This record gives sequence, C-alpha cells and structure tokens, in this order.
Amino acid sequence: MEDTRAWSDGPKGAEAADPGGGLSGLLGGPGGAARRAVTGVLVCRYCGEEQFEVTARECFCVGCCLPLGVEDGDVYGPETAWRLRPAAAPAPGTATEVLRCPAGHDLFQVAAAYTLGADGRVERLSVGLRCPADGSLRLFVDDARVEPVAG
Ligand SMILES: [Zn+2]
Ligand SMILES: [Zn+2]
Repeated sequence: MEDTRAWSDGPKGAEAADPGGGLSGLLGGPGGAARRAVTGVLVCRYCGEEQFEVTARECFCVGCCLPLGVEDGDVYGPETAWRLRPAAAPAPGTATEVLRCPAGHDLFQVAAAYTLGADGRVERLSVGLRCPADGSLRLFVDDARVEPVAG
C-alpha cells in the first residue's frame, strides 16, 4: 500500500504561484468527491500567523502557541466540535514530538479538506502540511473520520 503520508516535493518559496503552494493538489485527491471542500492555507484565528508547529495529533500556531483545532473541530469553526478517529495511531512515545520535514524544518503551512455528509456536517477530514522553506508536502491527516461531539 502506498504511504500517502510520505513527503513529496512541491513548489518552493513562501509565495508559490499556486495558492496553497501545492497543498490544494495534495488534498484534492483523484476524482475529487463532490462534497469535498478544500481550504487555502489556514491562518490562526487568534493572531493571523500562518505557520504551525506540528505534533502527532495537532498543529500549534507559531505566533501564539494556540492549537489549530484539528483534533477537536475548532479548525472548521468555533461552532464545531468533533473527535478525530485516528487514521493511524501515532507510534508510542511520539505524541508530543515535533514533526520535521526531510530537511529538518519544523514550521508548516496547513490546509484542510472536509468531506461533508448529506446534512452538511463534516464526515471526514484531511489535513496537508507544506514546508514553506523548501516546498515539501505531506498529508498530516489522511481522510480520517470525525465523530460529532455534543456541545
Ligand atoms: Zn496564533
Ligand atoms: Zn523543509
């Protein structure tokens, strides 16, 4: 089976011509489901920063250190609460380890793709990472199922 979370090369530079610098292509996937919504590069809602430190389950803003909300639904909107069903459990002992690109950089731009159900709720989540220093791309969350949490 192909490891969809392996790194791949993308356009280099912080301001790539493609909005998202290849992230939208990474998240679009073959066939592109009709109800799939792909975001551009996500921006921290608290401080406007667009680079994040990434651990096994969450992305943290480099500006204010607050989580993006990949794991609890905040990434989609303040009204949304979900629990992420891990597509692959992180290896023991790596949960707090900071992810690095193959060249060793540890700050990433982040974009998400949401697959919506018939009722408009998010059913599945993919999150892509892009190293702005060298353009490396990787899926962080690969089409994981999300379970709504009663608020
Ligand atoms: Zn922030
Ligand atoms: Zn890098």
